[in-house]
Amino acid sequence: MPTTPNQRIERSRRTILDALNQSFPATRQELSRRTGLAPSTVAGIVRGLLAEGLVHEHEAADHAGRGRPSARLSPRRPPGHIVGIDFGHTHISAALATTAQEIVTEGRVRLDVDASAGNALDQAAILVAGLLDRAGVPAGSVRRTAAGIPGPINQRTGRIQSATILAGWAGVRPGRELGARLGDEVVIANDAELAALAEHTHGAGQNVSDLIYVKASHGIGAGLILAGRRYTGAYGASGEIGHTLVQEGGSQCRCGQRGCLESVVSIGEVWRQLTAAGLPSPDHPEDLSLDALVGDPVAARIVADAGRRLGRVLSDLCNALDPAMLVIGGELATGGDALLEGIRESLRRFAQPAISDRVQVRSSPLGHRAALVGALTLAAAESPL
Ligand SMILES: [Zn+2]
Repeated sequence: MPTTPNQRIERSRRTILDALNQSFPATRQELSRRTGLAPSTVAGIVRGLLAEGLVHEHEAADHAGRGRPSARLSPRRPPGHIVGIDFGHTHISAALATTAQEIVTEGRVRLDVDASAGNALDQAAILVAGLLDRAGVPAGSVRRTAAGIPGPINQRTGRIQSATILAGWAGVRPGRELGARLGDEVVIANDAELAALAEHTHGAGQNVSDLIYVKASHGIGAGLILAGRRYTGAYGASGEIGHTLVQEGGSQCRCGQRGCLESVVSIGEVWRQLTAAGLPSPDHPEDLSLDALVGDPVAARIVADAGRRLGRVLSDLCNALDPAMLVIGGELATGGDALLEGIRESLRRFAQPAISDRVQVRSSPLGHRAALVGALTLAAAESPL
């Protein structure tokens, strides 16, 4: 049925508001790319939304470090607070922020998260209560809480669905369980997906619509932003690249298979190789960053080799998805240029030239806070209007 100009404008207005609600802040150019609407259409509609007070405009630092910061837009949210939680394999981090995503306070506890979902969820609730207490914010002021989990979450059932990836959590519904402890349902997402969202809205990938964030830590997982949107897959298990076979008959992986990518290049395995080559063990076993070894020629060869192996798997992913950018996070990303060069070398060799010539490979500027920032971004997007 033909549409009138007014109906077309209304539809475009909805499209822009939806795109902005999904992830913000965003520039006019990003909104144009995400929605496929002409820049002039976006500019006109944004002018109207600003006049109506439905969105607001602010200058934000360009974390990519290039060019002049451009004016960014956010949907106007009622005043209040949001909470973001990041469950790692060995820690829980939480942050309290305003609905405009300004962080009020944050905290972190060390814990074997995989061992017991019940205990980890209890500790997260205690951490959040402590943050609210410290900031003097009543629990009723929290409009939405979002949490990242280092495993696949079935988006339809809300259950952790894999007994092979996060065994101690299999069958648990963390959103409901955490909600019961905090008093309101919690939005749950995979941590690599949240980190991808954070890099897209606040980090390295603000100017691209298609990016893959790779969390290279104790496990290896990828979060996908495709056509400007977080992509979870049909059952929430997209990006589980850590269990790609890279070495037939290799060492046993925690998933039961042999020779998985993460049994070969996890941060633990890289440290095992570093110490076997005579380099000193990490000062603190809980801090496995490679910062102190950047510049050491032996470490550089080991880290570059891990990069090449990771890059081999990323080449196939790039051939399938054609991203504009790979953002590498997790402790392995602290290996500096050696890691990135190893990845680029494999991309040149195994990805199609049309892809390897163009795809940018960067280490995560948000670092170990990426998933936490992503949890806040998701909480803001999902907070009631
Ligand atoms: Zn595996």
